[in-house]
Amino acid sequence: MDLTPSPEANAILDQVRKMFEQDILPRNREMIRSTKQDGELDPPFLDELRAKAKSMGLWNMAHTDLTDRQPGLSMSNLDYSIVAELLGRAFWSSKVFNCQWPDVPNMVALQRYATEEQKEQWLKPLLDGDCQSAFAMTEPGAASSDAKNIAATITPDGDDYIVDGRKWYITGGGHERCRFYLFLGLSNPDAAQNRRHSVILVPRETAGVTVGGANAFFGYSEPNGPASEINFDQVRVPKENLLGEEGEGFAVSQARLAPARLHHSMRAIGQCELLIELMYARALERHAFGRALEGYDTVQYAIAHSRVETEQMRLLLRKVAAQVDAMGEKSAYRDLSILKVAIAQGYYGIADRAVQVFGAMGGYDGTPVADAFAWSRAFRIGDGPDEVHLRSIFRAEPKPEVTLAASPYVVPPGDWV
Ligand SMILES: Cc1cc2nc3c(=O)[nH]c(=O)nc-3n(C[C@H](O)[C@H](O)[C@H](O)COP(=O)(O)OP(=O)(O)OC[C@H]3O[C@@H](n4cnc5c(N)ncnc54)[C@H](O)[C@@H]3O)c2cc1C
Repeated sequence: MDLTPSPEANAILDQVRKMFEQDILPRNREMIRSTKQDGELDPPFLDELRAKAKSMGLWNMAHTDLTDRQPGLSMSNLDYSIVAELLGRAFWSSKVFNCQWPDVPNMVALQRYATEEQKEQWLKPLLDGDCQSAFAMTEPGAASSDAKNIAATITPDGDDYIVDGRKWYITGGGHERCRFYLFLGLSNPDAAQNRRHSVILVPRETAGVTVGGANAFFGYSEPNGPASEINFDQVRVPKENLLGEEGEGFAVSQARLAPARLHHSMRAIGQCELLIELMYARALERHAFGRALEGYDTVQYAIAHSRVETEQMRLLLRKVAAQVDAMGEKSAYRDLSILKVAIAQGYYGIADRAVQVFGAMGGYDGTPVADAFAWSRAFRIGDGPDEVHLRSIFRAEPKPEVTLAASPYVVPPGDWV
């Protein structure tokens, strides 16, 4: 399996890097102040940057299967990984290129399951960058790591469905540009367990939809809009808003999984690179007990271990990305789980080391260190907690055919003499 990104991808990366260095990074401090101090997630310069990226064709690069009529540039997962790694250094930069989450996974689900009319109404404005969307699955009252528990309802009523239930931690759900939700709910309670749920498109501006307070995670809010609590109280939605068939909710949700897991992992590697760089810079500048922190072997190990793990993570990511490119995501569910666990834990471990090397400044939210610590911790829970993935990985492990007593690799106890 060739894990080398194509020459075309390197050429695109050069263009993105140029824009990143010339247009994005010089505004990074302003963006941090805007989002964290002023609560303004989309300051005016963001639109200017988006227009520039779009005019250069550096748009929608996270999609592997854009049609000729859709705007932007499709890249394979392997190729996009080098671009996403760069964008991972400043999360808001993904928005500049219309590569932000949760919109990209939502667009992938729409591309696969929407009718032509639905694509025109819901997918087109997302691809054009005219609005945002959110995926509304998790509920405060249900252990949502098991999607079968989702209790919000989608009930037929004449030509409509009535959507009812409370969701929380819905990323981007409260952003002012968020126009609609992909809502997962119970539609067929008497069907087989994996055919009970459906996904329906719910416009935000519908009677009965109330966006409540932000659900920050350890005080951290995502750049695409804070995760929000949203109440759907007897919301009436036309039947044509159903995405896929009734009972296909898990299949529609699964279409989001591969891009979500791959892209978060790609950006996490960019974050790890940044954390290594910042740890080293801090260690050179900070002196304690008569020498720079860099001179202490514990600090050297923190940086070196982080380097070892980042190289491992990148290699694994490229392998899984290439596998999905070559054989589709269905062949890679186990490997996507392995990737998700490895990256979430690796990223979290590196963020933890960075906090330690930074001392109190590691918890100060003017550095990406504090954000990385919160975000990497959230990553071990969102998109499936570690344990749920580990369970799937264990279940995919082939059962050994040989008992220990029969194994030629083991000298049975008692046979040693
Ligand atoms: C920052 C952030 C953003 C999010 N964005 C979204 C979003 O946009 N849309 C959305 O719908 N949801 C979102 N979520 C919610 C996320 O998907 C859920 O938190 C996740 O699915 C886990 O569900 P839960 O919180 O209900 O945990 P629970 O299901 O209550 O699980 C709690 C814990 O139980 C343990 N556990 C669960 N199953 C097993 C098992 N099989 N074996 C062993 N232990 C187990 C795990 O330790 C797990 O962490 C977001 C969450 C965060 C933190």
